[in-house]
Amino acid sequence: MPWRVGPAERRAGLWPDPYRVWLSEIMLQQTTVAAVINYYQRFTELWPRVEDLASARDDTVMGEWAGLGYYARARNLLRCARLVAEDYSSDFPHTREELLKLPGIGPYTASAIAAIAYDRPETVVDGNVERVMSRLFAVETPLKQSKLVLTEFATDLTPAKRPGDYAQAVMDLGATICTPRNPACGNCPWRAACAAHAMGRASEFPVRTPKKPKPTRKGIAYLARRSDGAWLLETRPNRGLLGGMLGWPGGEWVETPPVENPPLEAIWSDPGSEVRHTFTHFHLQLALRVAEVPLDAEPTDGHFVDEAEFNSAKLPTLMRKAYDLASDTLSKD
Ligand code: SF4
Repeated sequence: MPWRVGPAERRAGLWPDPYRVWLSEIMLQQTTVAAVINYYQRFTELWPRVEDLASARDDTVMGEWAGLGYYARARNLLRCARLVAEDYSSDFPHTREELLKLPGIGPYTASAIAAIAYDRPETVVDGNVERVMSRLFAVETPLKQSKLVLTEFATDLTPAKRPGDYAQAVMDLGATICTPRNPACGNCPWRAACAAHAMGRASEFPVRTPKKPKPTRKGIAYLARRSDGAWLLETRPNRGLLGGMLGWPGGEWVETPPVENPPLEAIWSDPGSEVRHTFTHFHLQLALRVAEVPLDAEPTDGHFVDEAEFNSAKLPTLMRKAYDLASDTLSKD
């Protein structure tokens, strides 16, 4: 992983760049390395230092983040970069306590940056580490209720010497050997000490409580294309899902049948298929309405974005799916 500095490099005196450690940790929240890697490379090419990111335009950064999800992270990313550039002379704070004062940095991320970038003896507990601890100590309490205990076990094991390498090693152990299904205990350096392995029950940990099914919400998105090729878009409110991102106008997403509320008068057609998307807490079924509108169309919501400036790749995934369906429909007409 490009933000890593291995033990051999560290012995040779090379240290990770705190900016890159921070950027990777923010991107990795709720996401996998595979989903993040191209975004990380693009961001570090465009903005190689925190002061470069701090002086970037909001809409450029939000556009580059499009598709990575959890858009509040992108807004906090910018706020944090600007604060570090202005108040800390572009030098990320070195301690967990100071890092916690920055926007978008919670307890896990603060510990990870302090340990990985500055080799502080902080306990870093992500899902991988929780799984390893729950197996190592055969914790029978369901994961949701045992997080504190798992953190205590992880804290007890954190060494004073090379805590940064240790933190990354335990996370890697969870990601590559002590995997959720079929852990490769035969290759594990902790095999002799592992209680779950000794019981022959490694895959049964961590104990999970059955998940409640997610509710389904419904909504309508209105996709209007003006006769000169411009698209009607709105910037979503900063708070809430896809906050601050561009999207198609439409009402709220609700569990009851949604109410028609078009942003302008037009002959709206229904392409007959809807967009399905799953957020953390619910499934969404988004019906579409599509219209060609004249040059003098005056919307009550949103603004027209000229064809030359419109780039569907800069839309969040849900909105891009809607665009793909709508543009198919319009090109058939
Ligand atoms: S022995 Fe198996 S279950 Fe125990 S920590 Fe290693 S990989 Fe995980």
